[in-house]
Amino acid sequence: MKLSFFILSKRSRKKREGDYNLKTKKILILGAGAAGTIVANKLARDLRREIARDEVEITILDKSDMNINQAGFTFVPFGFYTPDDIRRPRRKLISPRVKAIFGEDGEVARVDLENREVTVKSGKKYFYDYLLIATGCTQDVESVPGLSKDFNTFYTSLEDTLRLKESLQTLSKGKIVVLTIKMPIPCPGAPAKFTVLLDDYLRYVKRARENFDITFLWPIPTVGPPPYNSNITKAFEERKINDVREFKFSEIDAEKKEVVSADGERIKYDFLVTIPPHKGIKALYDSGITDENGWVPADKYTLQYKKSETEKHDEVYVAGDAGPLEILKTGVTAHYQAFTVAQNLIYDVLGTGDKVHYLGNVGCPYVGSTLTPDSRGKAFLAVWSYGLKPRPFVPTEAGWYFYRMYYYIYWDLTVKAII
Ligand SMILES: Cc1cc2nc3c(=O)[nH]c(=O)nc-3n(C[C@H](O)[C@H](O)[C@H](O)COP(=O)(O)OP(=O)(O)OC[C@H]3O[C@@H](n4cnc5c(N)ncnc54)[C@H](O)[C@@H]3O)c2cc1C
Repeated sequence: MKLSFFILSKRSRKKREGDYNLKTKKILILGAGAAGTIVANKLARDLRREIARDEVEITILDKSDMNINQAGFTFVPFGFYTPDDIRRPRRKLISPRVKAIFGEDGEVARVDLENREVTVKSGKKYFYDYLLIATGCTQDVESVPGLSKDFNTFYTSLEDTLRLKESLQTLSKGKIVVLTIKMPIPCPGAPAKFTVLLDDYLRYVKRARENFDITFLWPIPTVGPPPYNSNITKAFEERKINDVREFKFSEIDAEKKEVVSADGERIKYDFLVTIPPHKGIKALYDSGITDENGWVPADKYTLQYKKSETEKHDEVYVAGDAGPLEILKTGVTAHYQAFTVAQNLIYDVLGTGDKVHYLGNVGCPYVGSTLTPDSRGKAFLAVWSYGLKPRPFVPTEAGWYFYRMYYYIYWDLTVKAII
């Protein structure tokens, strides 16, 4: 009996050898944020049989073991979400079918596309057949004259966001300036959203809006596409927020508490909130695989690595904020791209020869007002794509409730690649 079982299982293994290439195909994912985690979980589910048969191995690397939903940073200073609402240990989010490696063994130090090799901080090396770069982006505070001497922000980390919350609580009057230095930034709607939330907070929580002056300094003519821009322009007018567009930043004079423009204009502040410039991560830049600001070049439809017509790697994909400068950096973008890339990795591994295209789907949530004694809260998700302009919209109460709720369902539906 035992012998026949051994012969049978040997035979079925032989049959499998005929059916499949038994060399394990290695998919390596760099970065376990929004995009990386969605891709890992979709692959883990759709390739579960191949993983069980050791035909496919999925590894994901990240420098930290905690996933933080940065979109929550805009709301934390005003008490809409707590730190625990917007963070989860990565181990609870990533399928056990995926090898997840965090800390120094997961912190990418160098990427060698020619040799298909990634080196991490500890010196360990990982080899791959397919690579996904999803390492997001980072802030460039040092490049901004004067910023490190007076830096309050909700754009960098949960710690900085909580510090900002405390500072806002202590303010009783004065001029608050919300300064965005330059594009690109992740979620270019967030500074305007923050300013609306700040206005409501001063009106309805502090009940002292008349003691404050709010100025919004913005580097380009519009905030988002035309329908987004017209809504926010109107909201700022109604709220008496000083709305300064095309502000050409030069430096922060922290001694005098002034923001100085390139034309020499000096804007006084009592409290400054700054959205710093962003760039791709240093390890990728140092590896020589990015543009001059660290963004990873890719074909805008397939998201496969493409620096030039001759310098391309079809086995390398990029998703999320790490990607090309031209594609808007939002969580909604990362979500759409992650599904496209995951499906193409599945096709690649199974050798079907198929390809799905990313059609430029992006989105930016708009907040017109929060839930206050005078308003039920109004929001809207503006979406568009390469071929589809965003439609004119009016923010709705349903939009506000959905947006508030989304931060909870995000963990169980989006990140787990269910929707
Ligand atoms: C204040 C703020 C508000 C926002 N609001 C919204 C919003 O309302 N809606 C929306 O759609 N989007 C919003 N966004 C944008 C959204 O958060 C990002 O677009 C999204 O997180 C991008 O996903 P990603 O996977 O590309 O990057 P991330 O989620 O940032 O993940 C990148 C991962 O790479 C890891 N990593 C970095 N360097 C290394 C390294 N060397 N080695 C290993 N791992 C590394 C990081 O630890 C991180 O886990 C907001 C962003 C901010 C900052």
